[in-house]
Amino acid sequence: MENGRLALIILGPPGAGTGTQARMAAEALNIPHISTGDMLREALRNDTELGRKAKAFMECGALVPDELVEASVAERLVQEDCGRGFILDGYPRTIPQARFLESLLENSDTRFLCVGVSVGNDVLIQRLSSRWTCPACGKIFNAALNPAKAGGRCDECGANLMQRKDDTAEVIAERLHVYHKATEPLILYYQERDSFVEINGDKPVEEVFDSIIGVIKGRTD
Ligand code: ADP
Repeated sequence: MENGRLALIILGPPGAGTGTQARMAAEALNIPHISTGDMLREALRNDTELGRKAKAFMECGALVPDELVEASVAERLVQEDCGRGFILDGYPRTIPQARFLESLLENSDTRFLCVGVSVGNDVLIQRLSSRWTCPACGKIFNAALNPAKAGGRCDECGANLMQRKDDTAEVIAERLHVYHKATEPLILYYQERDSFVEINGDKPVEEVFDSIIGVIKGRTD
């Protein structure tokens, strides 16, 4: 990764696999994976002030107000492990968040690359309703496509898998609606900055991952 550090944004609707892909890319590139969804769920579990404020929004599939997420992101990005680059998953999710991120990283010799993972609505709904997540290490499984080998336990760390509270039909529909309305405009935002590449997310996990790595190599060599 020459010419400054990389801010890799993995953008996609809920269920597109951004979490899975961001985790894999972070491991391959040896840079941190920063998921605002994970940060918020942790705040919820620990019953922090942020968690208490975010809870109602998350449970109904709405976005948490920008200013609540901004503080956590700003704090995270100044940590030492972000010095070589980082992968953002679930952030930015609105145009004001993208502007905030840009202002945070101004004068820091950071290159933005936004990879958009596109998947049709029907596939997204199917994936989300059969998704199981490890609450301990964050690994994601799918009861139909990618089941855990050890039944209800995580293959990686052995913790009991759980279904996210917002993976119910009603909340899924709202999250998709919010994505199309508030988050999709980011595609144009990054296209205008010549930082956007779209890939097809309706393929096996490894193939999607190869596409992402291909895009990063193409943009950074
Ligand atoms: P998904 O992409 O599967 O919807 P995430 O784990 O990224 O899930 O986010 C879960 C929830 O956390 C969102 O529905 C939203 O309420 C909240 N959230 C996560 N990231 C943000 C963000 N950048 N801005 C506002 N709310 C967020």
